[in-house]
Amino acid sequence: MSIQTKLESIKSSLPSKITLVAVSKTKPVSDLMQAYEIGQRIFGENKIQEMAEKWETMPKDIQWHMIGHVQTNKVKFMAPFVSLVHGVDSLKLLQEINKQAKKNNRVIDCLLQIHIAEEETKFGLDDDELNSLLSSDDLVQMENIRITGLMGMATFTENQNQVEKEFQHLKSIYDRIKLSNNANCQIDTLSMGMSGDYQLAIDCGSTMIRIGSSIFSARTPEGETK
Ligand SMILES: *Cc1c(COP(=O)(O)O)cnc(C)c1O
Repeated sequence: MSIQTKLESIKSSLPSKITLVAVSKTKPVSDLMQAYEIGQRIFGENKIQEMAEKWETMPKDIQWHMIGHVQTNKVKFMAPFVSLVHGVDSLKLLQEINKQAKKNNRVIDCLLQIHIAEEETKFGLDDDELNSLLSSDDLVQMENIRITGLMGMATFTENQNQVEKEFQHLKSIYDRIKLSNNANCQIDTLSMGMSGDYQLAIDCGSTMIRIGSSIFSARTPEGETK
């Protein structure tokens, strides 16, 4: 099946309120353009340099989402154009995004990444870290970022019950912070669900799914987030 056929079939199966991020990491611009040609405008990348190169060559009405782990010293390379940063997991990183956004005269939308999986290797904040970040006085000062929601990745397992529990946990945190009145927060996005688990994620309340291999076919192992 072609990229366009796969994308069309996924899109037609989605409830209308779900935002689809086409995860195009490691894929060539020609693949992304096939998706673009049939209307896809949101692409997700996990390496800042690769995203910046694609941004330079591709049409300017694309919204670029940074879905990978962000190194503080690379924020400046995406600050001029990135539209949403999914993987924010420290105040220090938020401060750097704020600083670089200010230099570019922008407000950059950010999602806080929450650790919901069993695996130690997946990044993200735990409950205490989330609470202290959201109640930090420093947050009030950051006029060039806006926290628009949460992102999480479930454990990589066949056990659907476990994945469901992890998604429900993330949804409950989302519901809680949506109601609270924290500085610089305008919560409307819950980014959860990938090729293998997006249907379950949607059932659990996801508003944004990140789909790569089901659109663009499998990646080589080097393209994976570690
Ligand atoms: C690669 C990646 C995805 C997409 O994964 P697929 O299984 O290919 O759909 C989604 N989210 C994050 C954070 C990723 O790194």
